[in-house]
Amino acid sequence: MRTCVGCRQRALIGELLRVVVVDGRLVVDERRRLPGRGAWLHPAPGCLAKAERKRAFPRALRAQGALDAAGLREHPAFATEIGSGNHPEPQ
Ligand SMILES: [Zn+2]
Repeated sequence: MRTCVGCRQRALIGELLRVVVVDGRLVVDERRRLPGRGAWLHPAPGCLAKAERKRAFPRALRAQGALDAAGLREHPAFATEIGSGNHPEPQ
């Protein structure tokens, strides 16, 4: 189980996306294999919005200063209806 950095609810790893930092930019670790720290997030625009609002990524990833989330917003999982707050319920 991992905690979503957006809504702070616990979920199975298979239900969450792993987000890592590459050169100061946030990217989705599609295969969940990149080295270093990862932040876990529901594939939901609402959870991304909450995580950004709370500055959860720098905290979860132990990063100094701001991180560029533009790459995440372009990801298909986050590309729709920003701010809906919805995410899939655990089965
Ligand atoms: Zn979430």
